[in-house]
Amino acid sequence: MGILVINCGSSTLKYKLFETKGERAISFGVIERIGEEESAVKYCIAGGRVNEKKRKVPSHDYAFGLVADILRDALCEIPDSHMSVDAVGHRVVHGGSKYSDSILIDSQVIADIKGYINLAPLHNPPNLAGIEAAMKVLPVPQVAVFDTAFHQSMPEHAYTYGLPYKLCEKHGIRRYGFHGSSHAFVSQYAADLMGLPLEEMKMITCHLGSGSSITAIQNGRSVDTSMGMTPLAGVMMGTRTGSFDPSITYFLEDKEGLSHKELDSLLNKKSGLLGVSGISNDLRDILSAAKGGNQRAQLAIAMHNYGIIKTIGAYAAAMNGVDAIVFTAGIGENSSDIREAICSHLSYLGVVVDKQLNRDADGACVVSEVGSCVNILVVPTDEELFIARETERCVADQCFSSAHEKPKTVVR
Ligand code: AMP
Repeated sequence: MGILVINCGSSTLKYKLFETKGERAISFGVIERIGEEESAVKYCIAGGRVNEKKRKVPSHDYAFGLVADILRDALCEIPDSHMSVDAVGHRVVHGGSKYSDSILIDSQVIADIKGYINLAPLHNPPNLAGIEAAMKVLPVPQVAVFDTAFHQSMPEHAYTYGLPYKLCEKHGIRRYGFHGSSHAFVSQYAADLMGLPLEEMKMITCHLGSGSSITAIQNGRSVDTSMGMTPLAGVMMGTRTGSFDPSITYFLEDKEGLSHKELDSLLNKKSGLLGVSGISNDLRDILSAAKGGNQRAQLAIAMHNYGIIKTIGAYAAAMNGVDAIVFTAGIGENSSDIREAICSHLSYLGVVVDKQLNRDADGACVVSEVGSCVNILVVPTDEELFIARETERCVADQCFSSAHEKPKTVVR
């Protein structure tokens, strides 16, 4: 079975085509700068070299047409393959309070995703554009996999803000959380790696990348997460503030005469590691500046790690214990220095990291010592594979549970 995974951002369209048997990626690619004068189309077929073309790509609709052409070629290039695109899985950022699971897309789901645009004005519109473009070209089942779905299991006391209840109810103001596919994927992977049942564990997953979030997972369910109603909340990130005193926004409105739009850009795009260091949003640049003695770079790293250490402590307290802590995404997977700095503050939990294992970590592995009271793991995330698995599951459920005919496949 061939499953195409689509992830549309405001000016990008990323795709990955999986053969479900063996979970092999047949082709993947990205179209960047959609809507600009010149767009970049990059793709790779069957593990070959990366092809790169410059084209004018005016819309997501047009971009999806290009992907369909690339895939047609990709499927022809694989000798003896009888593969086809049998279903499409879409990353959808916001599923509101309604969607706690992935779902086959129909007109109601589309209307709901539209309805949640006010909660994710930058993300849901391009996600929707990708869905509409794919539905026009590929008459196969389409599945929405929501970033927020995994966190719908949070208890009310964890997701409710201390604002007037009626106001929150009226506008859907609450903690939703994001990166759900990543937290779900790495938590299951980590449990499998340890040979322990996720359903009986207390785990903290740290997705540390350009956007970062930390999740407390108890018995396989998200019970708290650091991002909030929007991805601005939680720990400090590449360009986002993380949680801070909201009164500062009115203060800045007054003192700097900033509009809402300017404040939004300040908090989301000019703050965090970039804003504090004044150097870059890329932690690699900041680490190297810090090693060279740059004090603002050292401060930015100290703040970054401190926020993560505090959140891990809060979640260990919330769950009354923790069995495993998992690091993932660009920083979590690749920076042994950051993992070591964080874990060195967790000795009160009985965490003992094997420094050599941590430094040598490559791929999914345990980096704590055998006697450590808490297992520390590194697990590369794979949100596309998670979406492909969810899509396969939803399609299989539909075939199994309804009177629908088996979905048609689009053969090359
Ligand atoms: P992501 O959003 O998951 O792709 O993560 C991107 C971030 O990971 C980049 O902005 C870098 O700051 C960080 N990163 C990637 N590789 C390394 C590394 N070897 N050491 C430190 N940070 C890294």
